[in-house]
This record gives sequence, structure tokens and C-alpha cells, in this order.
Amino acid sequence: MMNLSKSSSSSQIANSSCRNRVAERSRGIPRHCRCGERVVLRTSCTVKNPGRLFYCSPLSAEGDKYHLFSWTDERIVEEVEDMMMF
Ligand SMILES: [Zn+2]
Repeated sequence: MMNLSKSSSSSQIANSSCRNRVAERSRGIPRHCRCGERVVLRTSCTVKNPGRLFYCSPLSAEGDKYHLFSWTDERIVEEVEDMMMF
């Protein structure tokens, strides 16, 4: 949240730009699961996170660690952080 001010952001860009390019989009909104299926948006109905949106693989089952599972709000924060670096 500190890099909202434009005057002090130039040094931070140098530090974060290399981190931003690692791996195929491990940050931000996911498009595909590692199994190749397109990620779908679902709503959580657990007691812990009622009504919370998440991305998952259409093939994922409860407790399945292989397929993608990602909280939408956390991914959106990363997506916005990455956009603010440009
Ligand atoms: Zn999958």
C-alpha cells in the first residue's frame, strides 16, 4: 500500500520488476489449472468462508491438492499490485 505515492515509486520498481517476471503467472488471476482445464469461479459455502469467491479447476474435488484452488480476493489484490508497478 506504500507505493501509492508516485514520487517515491521509482526505486521500488527496480526492486520488484524482476520478481514480477518469474514463472508463468503464479501471481494474479489464474486462467488454467495445471491439468489444462480452464479455471472456473465458484462461491465457497464452508462455515469458515461463507460466500467467499474462489477460482478452482472444474475437475477439483474437496481436499484435492493437485488441482488449482485460489481465493479470488487474494488473486485480485496481486493483479492490482502488478498493474500498479507499470
Ligand atoms: Zn485441474
